Amino acid sequence: MSKVNLYNTLTRKKEQFKPIGKEVKMYSCGPTVYSYQHIGNLRSYVLADLLKRTLIYNEYKVKHVINVTDVGHLTSDADSGEDKMEKAAEREGKKAEDIARFYFKEFEKDLKKMNILSPWKWAWATKHVKEQIELVKKLEKKGFTYKTRDGIYFDSKKFKGYGKLAKLNIKELRAGKRVEIGEKKNKTDFALWKFSSNPGERQQEWKSPWGIGFPGWHLECSAMSMKYLGNHFDIHTGGEDHISVHHTNEIAQSEALTGKKFVNYWIHGAFLMNKGKKISKSTGGLYTISDLEKEGYSPMHLRYLFFLTNYRKQLNFSLDILDAARNAYERLKKKIVELKKERHKGTDRTKDYENEFINAINDNLNTSRAIDVLWKVINDFDFEHGKKLKLLEKFDCIFGFGIKNMKEEKIGVPAEIKRLLEERERLRKEKKFAEADILRERIFEMGFKVEDSEKGVIVEKN
Ligand code: AMP
Ligand code: ZN
Repeated sequence: MSKVNLYNTLTRKKEQFKPIGKEVKMYSCGPTVYSYQHIGNLRSYVLADLLKRTLIYNEYKVKHVINVTDVGHLTSDADSGEDKMEKAAEREGKKAEDIARFYFKEFEKDLKKMNILSPWKWAWATKHVKEQIELVKKLEKKGFTYKTRDGIYFDSKKFKGYGKLAKLNIKELRAGKRVEIGEKKNKTDFALWKFSSNPGERQQEWKSPWGIGFPGWHLECSAMSMKYLGNHFDIHTGGEDHISVHHTNEIAQSEALTGKKFVNYWIHGAFLMNKGKKISKSTGGLYTISDLEKEGYSPMHLRYLFFLTNYRKQLNFSLDILDAARNAYERLKKKIVELKKERHKGTDRTKDYENEFINAINDNLNTSRAIDVLWKVINDFDFEHGKKLKLLEKFDCIFGFGIKNMKEEKIGVPAEIKRLLEERERLRKEKKFAEADILRERIFEMGFKVEDSEKGVIVEKN
């Protein structure tokens, strides 16, 4: 087995991956289901998918859990603002659980379209309130909590090593004025349990030893990951926005509880940006997969685009770069279809290329280098087709571009295009080539490419 090297946010180093047990235990922070997931969110799940596929390629078994946040995520990642779920329920005049179910189903459809493998378990926050209350009780017993008028808080000062993931300058952070932090003892303290201000007003609230309320957002990930993967597990993933607050707090409450290391490898994906700004649900104006489909792109074009940039680099999204990815992906599809049709004898270069590929992907998931290898294989005309195709299909266990199912697509040519094609043929017969070329341009602008071959006219989608 070749070595997988991963960049660990905890140590700020690329490290050789060594699993704790036979099966790799992996947890990813999942969606807050109050709205559609945007393509920025999807970049995070493509990263988790890529990592999981890479481990599987390297013959590891992977147990993967993703949480579904359907309560407790406030509009501010700190402990203020409205609950995103309650706000959406009010906006849409529906029950919070119906909102959660609806947006989760939509999210699942997007994952399928993006060819993202399903996790072993979807863990819903509202289905694990009991476990979350238990966790707070244990922390209380160990003396890590205190009560304010609006909830039970974690005393971050009592946990040695608070902020180690984000390398926070705690002294500076805690120097905040008292007014800013309300009843909290320290600026970095966070809510484990929030009280309902007017019990009966919220849709989602539960009884607890401290009063009616709901769990703090960070708590669910500790409670559910430890329930399904154990107190100490291998990998935790999420977007880079989670490093300084959410994951920092997960580590604090989990390690305070067990007195042991929580997670070995923290893997964070950089943001998808829009004109230099973070793409976020709260600021709006974002693309979803359906938006892109309406513009004529396929989810695979987006997947290809994500793999052109290292996951640790922020990626400035634009339709122009998506166009480039679409062209490359469609070219790939064309080459694969040709390969499936033609047979020829040649050399077997499987071993060399596979080594090159695995060295790229195992080097902290270097997908852009792996894509270079993919094209090198395609363009090696001496490489026997059957073996070549088999190797490309193997690479696709990681890429997930759907190489196995790529086939010639019968395209429906709209009536208007058919009419223009006939007109063009007539002009060509009359040797009016300049006019025929103008029509070809018009057809091109309408999304179809016309080529004249020995077999006749070939029409393809652009
Ligand atoms: P949320 O649904 O807001 O809780 O976010 C779900 C996941 O998407 C989390 O892992 C976030 O860190 C991640 N995320 C949010 N915005 C972006 C973005 N613009 N680019 C990449 N990942 C993001
Ligand atoms: Zn989380």
